[in-house]
Amino acid sequence: MSETIPTHATSTDLHHILDRQRTAFLHDGPPDAKKRRSDLHLLKSEILARRTEIVRALTADFGQRSERESAIVELIPLVQSINYMVRHLGHWMKPERRHVSAYFQCGRAWVVRQPVGVVGIIAPWNYPLSLALVPLATAIAAGNRAMLKPSELTPATSAVIAKIVQAIFPPEQVAVVTGGAELGAMFSALPFDHILFTGSTTVGKKVAEAAARNLTPVTLELGGKSPAVIEPGFSMRRAAARIAFGKLINAGQTCIAPDYVLVHENDAATFASAYQDAVHTLHPGGYIGSRDYTAILNQHHYARLNGLVRDAGERGARVIRLGSDSAASHVLAPVLLLDVTPEMAVMQDEIFGPVLPVLTYKTLDDAISFINARPNPLALYYFGDRREERDRLLNHTLSGNVTLNGTLLHIAQDDLPFGGVRESGIGAYHGKEGFITLTHPRGIYRQGRFNAAMLLRPPFGRLSDIITDILLR
Ligand code: NAD
Repeated sequence: MSETIPTHATSTDLHHILDRQRTAFLHDGPPDAKKRRSDLHLLKSEILARRTEIVRALTADFGQRSERESAIVELIPLVQSINYMVRHLGHWMKPERRHVSAYFQCGRAWVVRQPVGVVGIIAPWNYPLSLALVPLATAIAAGNRAMLKPSELTPATSAVIAKIVQAIFPPEQVAVVTGGAELGAMFSALPFDHILFTGSTTVGKKVAEAAARNLTPVTLELGGKSPAVIEPGFSMRRAAARIAFGKLINAGQTCIAPDYVLVHENDAATFASAYQDAVHTLHPGGYIGSRDYTAILNQHHYARLNGLVRDAGERGARVIRLGSDSAASHVLAPVLLLDVTPEMAVMQDEIFGPVLPVLTYKTLDDAISFINARPNPLALYYFGDRREERDRLLNHTLSGNVTLNGTLLHIAQDDLPFGGVRESGIGAYHGKEGFITLTHPRGIYRQGRFNAAMLLRPPFGRLSDIITDILLR
């Protein structure tokens, strides 16, 4: 449908696309609910028509990626979130009547959620399809136009995304531009009406700085070290199985993967043994060449993760490797680290791989202090049945979303907002919050023929004094 965007777009090209989109947006006005639904249906149909191509592209980008897992963790959440938006956007779009005080009667007040205009979307490599297209679907549901920059590290998937968009949208509605950090920097310097960035905290700061120069509002979906806290008395088997599930999907390359475990010192050995069982239950056939396990994206990250494990071992951690690795195809089998201390490199930054450090605590307050001594996590996991303890942990920490007695699954709840806190993110999207984030609440007041406030204008007199006294009560 659309003309092709230059592969090596310059700043002038980017400005040109943005100008075209903004002009078209202001000319056409906000699309009605029917048009938004129809665009979302088009997007979903094009995605489903290219299902095999998408899954193959993901496998090509990672070298080894479970095709079934790709369908489960990329396609299902994407399609479900589109379905959810299609079902609810009519309701979200309805103007909302607001209260008018007695002295402004018989006026009327209401709020219209107006699309902001053109949204710039920047996506990462770890879930390169859904983290590009869920933001795009949200922008469309909110009535906006969008420019999208997928990750340069997953070129095959980015090429399919570009094909999907070009097949169904004209460039003055949605455009995909491809490139790396240099293009990303030019992209985030554009005077968008909103930028939705998903990626690392380091790059998120650069995007926020560039956007601030244009006073462009940002939503930053970042990363961090998400802890899993296990209360004494909770089934270690159940906790270990659910932590292994969350840690090993996409080989731990998940922003909300449980990064490390905090377990009571008396339970550490039981947890370690249960975790090893859980890992073998999930992957009985091993890792190299597995149809169910994903490789680390590239040699750089494979070497980085091995460096973290080596450092932990050198500093006294017990390193338990739970399978064979392949350096050639950068497949890293799960690793369990026991006797971990906070100084180890593995406890400094987000791990983003299948390496699980286990730390122990004596009291829940120790665990809370440990979490609070670090940047706010993107996700927090708590395994326990005691409400009082759970509430203490939740009330005395700050984080993005929480799953209780499990991992990851808060992200699959279409009606929950998704976002971090400061270092792990700014703002939220998903569900209604995505619609709210990418629209402007425009308050409208229609003045009636008469209201009491009209008596508060010059020439002032006794009546205005009486009304002033009444309003100052
Ligand atoms: P990254 O920050 O390196 O890159 C993200 C995107 O930013 C890429 O498209 C990249 O090209 C672009 N970019 C690079 N430099 C830029 C610049 N100066 N200006 C603008 N854009 C620039 O992140 P990544 O390595 O692709 O992804 C991994 C990170 O993303 C992890 O920290 C992970 O936790 C986080 N993440 C967060 C979420 C979430 O929803 N909160 C989801 C997935 C990943």
